[in-house]
Amino acid sequence: EQITVADLAQRMAVKAREVTKLLMKMGEMARESDTIDQATASLVVEEMGHNPVLVSDTKVEDDLQDAVDERSSNVQTRPPVVTIMGHVDHGKTSLLDKIRETKVATGEAGGITQHIGAYHVETDRGVITFLDTPGHAAFSAMRSRGAQATDIVVLVVAADDGMMPQTEEAIDHARAAGTPLIVAINKMDKPSADPDRVLNELTTKEVVSEDWGGDTPMARISAKTGDGIDELLELIGLQAELMELEAPLDGAAQGVVIESKLEKGRGAVVSLLVKKGTLKQGDLVLAGEHYGKVRAMTDERGQRIKSAGPSIPVEILGLPETPAAGSEFLVVTDEKKAREVADFRTNREREQQLERQNKMRLENMFEQMGQGDVSFLNIVLKTDVRGSLEALLAALNELSTDEVKVRVISSGVGPISESDVTLAESSEAVLLGFNVRADSAARRKADTADMDIRYYSVIYGLIDDVKAAMSGMLAPEH
Ligand code: GDP
Repeated sequence: EQITVADLAQRMAVKAREVTKLLMKMGEMARESDTIDQATASLVVEEMGHNPVLVSDTKVEDDLQDAVDERSSNVQTRPPVVTIMGHVDHGKTSLLDKIRETKVATGEAGGITQHIGAYHVETDRGVITFLDTPGHAAFSAMRSRGAQATDIVVLVVAADDGMMPQTEEAIDHARAAGTPLIVAINKMDKPSADPDRVLNELTTKEVVSEDWGGDTPMARISAKTGDGIDELLELIGLQAELMELEAPLDGAAQGVVIESKLEKGRGAVVSLLVKKGTLKQGDLVLAGEHYGKVRAMTDERGQRIKSAGPSIPVEILGLPETPAAGSEFLVVTDEKKAREVADFRTNREREQQLERQNKMRLENMFEQMGQGDVSFLNIVLKTDVRGSLEALLAALNELSTDEVKVRVISSGVGPISESDVTLAESSEAVLLGFNVRADSAARRKADTADMDIRYYSVIYGLIDDVKAAMSGMLAPEH
């Protein structure tokens, strides 16, 4: 039995370069495309602190899934789920806000007042559901958990600014996910708007408008005045019709966790997007590593509701803890099996955590044994909700370079506490809060330790600062 270095690395979810490095330490020179024998491969696996995965453990999970699938029936057309992406400041949030404002019938109780991670609106072409966390960081964090929640990506490009780096990244992400793209050329109200320039630039990424002989629908809009938004919604509706999106309406619900947070007095508050079936109050929900009965269910208008069908987002109470954004959820009838799967997943999560730590330790060793010219930027990160936490972790993860490694030594949801400060102090880490503040004990502690706590409310702001900190840490050129 032989395996290539690249395949082995992929199965352990590590970089091929790490395997070749380790092989070199073991006295074996191998390139990524070279094959190695089983004995060597096993050694590598053990050295990297991995355990073999027992495939049979997932059988109970599969049984639950099968039971849910068997109970579903009455396949119907379902609304499309849309994510808005694009470069920072091109108007993603403004567009989401404008649609929310204008598409809720006046007089309807309250309008959309709650942030539950998604909302749905009625249009002439039916219901459309928007995920409320714009940007590709959240999109790819969900996808990395296997949750394909988005049917259509709306790419916002400011007509006065044109294609920018995150525009290109968004195109790449949508392509990688196989999700169709609709372009919204925004800020058309500005005198400096130049939509033809945008069209031109987009063709370099092979995004070509239908007018120009391509197949990407495009709308010219202003998120400020509302102009063109009806046309954009029309394009989304048309695209959805083309895709013939369907889901069973009856039977046990399944779907994906879009956000979760802990709230004082309410416990875990979890937003779910139903993908199949109908979720009802009182249902037993298994989400990620947690399960519980749905005690209460509300929509984005803050109204209590009793049931929710495909593509409809809801906020539920009743889970004992917060499952990760992007986790799949299932309604189950067998509490014993739910517990079994929850336990199994908890263990698996713990093992994977341990694996990651081992890997980090190993990396450390290499670094110390090696050239010794690598710096680390340690980070302690706290955020308001799991969704932003995962988006940030995914983004931070990509920042490491050969010279400076970004290392998140602790992260979590909730205010910055005294123990966060202590940890950051002892590990010489920078302390970052995203949409959260430090509590008073933490602030006192930070004051005495003369430590800086930095607060952010924009993902890119945080990422840019970390980048700047990294370049400050680069070893000076000799
Ligand atoms: P995001 O970073 O992509 O979410 O962008 P925002 O929605 O926060 O918008 C960035 C800035 O552009 C804000 O100051 C908005 O008021 C402004 N903006 C957004 N859309 C429009 C538009 O259609 N016209 C004009 N004139 N300004 C806009």
